Amino acid sequence: MSKIPIMLHFNGNWDSYGRFRDFQVDGIVLDEETSYSMLISTIAEQLMIDTSEKIVEIKYIVNENCPPLEIKNNMGVSVYMETKKENKNLGSYPLLISVRDFNMELAITNENTSAGSSGTIQLLDMSASPIIEEYQSEIITEGTQSVIEEGQVYQDKQTIATAMRHYSVMHKFQFRVKRSSHRSYWLICVAENCNWHFKATSINDSAMFKIRSFNRQHTCTLMDDTFIQRKRTTVVVGSMVMPKYCDPKTVYTPKDIQTDMLSQHGVTLSYMQAWRAKEKALQLLRGHPADSYNKLPKYFYILEKTYPSSVVKLKKTTDECFLYAFVALCTLISGWEYCRPVVVVDGTFLKIAYRGIMLTASTMDATGTILPLAYAVVDSENDVSWKWFFEQFKQIYGERTSMCVVSDRNERSYTLDEFNERMSKIEEIDPRVKSYLYDIGYHR
Ligand SMILES: [Zn+2]
Repeated sequence: MSKIPIMLHFNGNWDSYGRFRDFQVDGIVLDEETSYSMLISTIAEQLMIDTSEKIVEIKYIVNENCPPLEIKNNMGVSVYMETKKENKNLGSYPLLISVRDFNMELAITNENTSAGSSGTIQLLDMSASPIIEEYQSEIITEGTQSVIEEGQVYQDKQTIATAMRHYSVMHKFQFRVKRSSHRSYWLICVAENCNWHFKATSINDSAMFKIRSFNRQHTCTLMDDTFIQRKRTTVVVGSMVMPKYCDPKTVYTPKDIQTDMLSQHGVTLSYMQAWRAKEKALQLLRGHPADSYNKLPKYFYILEKTYPSSVVKLKKTTDECFLYAFVALCTLISGWEYCRPVVVVDGTFLKIAYRGIMLTASTMDATGTILPLAYAVVDSENDVSWKWFFEQFKQIYGERTSMCVVSDRNERSYTLDEFNERMSKIEEIDPRVKSYLYDIGYHR
């Protein structure tokens, strides 16, 4: 019986286009006539997955036009092996491995609490239990705990696992999970024969975990660089700097991350590590940009339901890709008739992975405050996208006598005479508009 080498892609994410992204790789060798249980156990052993606690999902892609096939039983393995026999290269038909908890509900609750909420709700829910009362004063709910010692009680396993990931990055070593179940969490150092170990178990089968023993002395030689795993560092540093990005106005660059991590925690990061940590933090906060675009149709639907007679439009390319989006809320539309007929339009770059331009149209209300009229997100600032924007705008707002549209694009192409003529027209309508335009810098 011949052996077949198989590449594993794991620790990745499925994106909304059915692609497996941001994975790590490993490999296994299997007999051609392997069984489903053998496949699972080989993968679990190689990737150190505790199958008593996790469900291993195995998929592979045969071609681009077909969604991934999942291997669920012996027949699935046979089909895969027959396919793989055609091309026995290690790189052909990699297995895409996802792992999830048996109890998805529990996993979701845990994720929510580790993302920063206090976990009070969970405690309140369980307040009837006598165990809770005993430990309530000292239950740790944050995974960013800097002091970790025997006897500490954590609200759940997720929190303790997060705390230990932080700990390993701060102390520049890597641990391995020796045992992990709903009742116990046992870690050892990756170095062989090292005495470092950590053991926590649940308190009387509740969600809470207590540290039972913790030997923090390594008997191995730790080497800072080799022992910091890139992915783990990114996730840990990313979750640590996440609060910095809650306010979009805060500027916090990868360089700042490097400086702060060094001064506060003595951890040296390369620029790329800091950059990845920043990306990770933003992703943790806002999700993936591609997913946001995916949510637009739903968002627009809700917008229309919530604010009836608003105008929202989504234009796609012939191959169903995002092209333009346009929003004019009902309150803005109804406010327009009470404003002077001057519209200021502008375009600004969106500094995200997918670029794009945001176009806006605003006016000034009677009190001199800016009233936005409509905005759009388009692929780029060109005549076609502007034209589309104005078409939508005109459909909603129509034309009014002496209506004037001001844009920085047009200004540049005006001659001075034309421009002065237009400005005096604006002045005729309302002198304050001219001073407003002057303030925003038309003179440039
Ligand atoms: Zn060690």
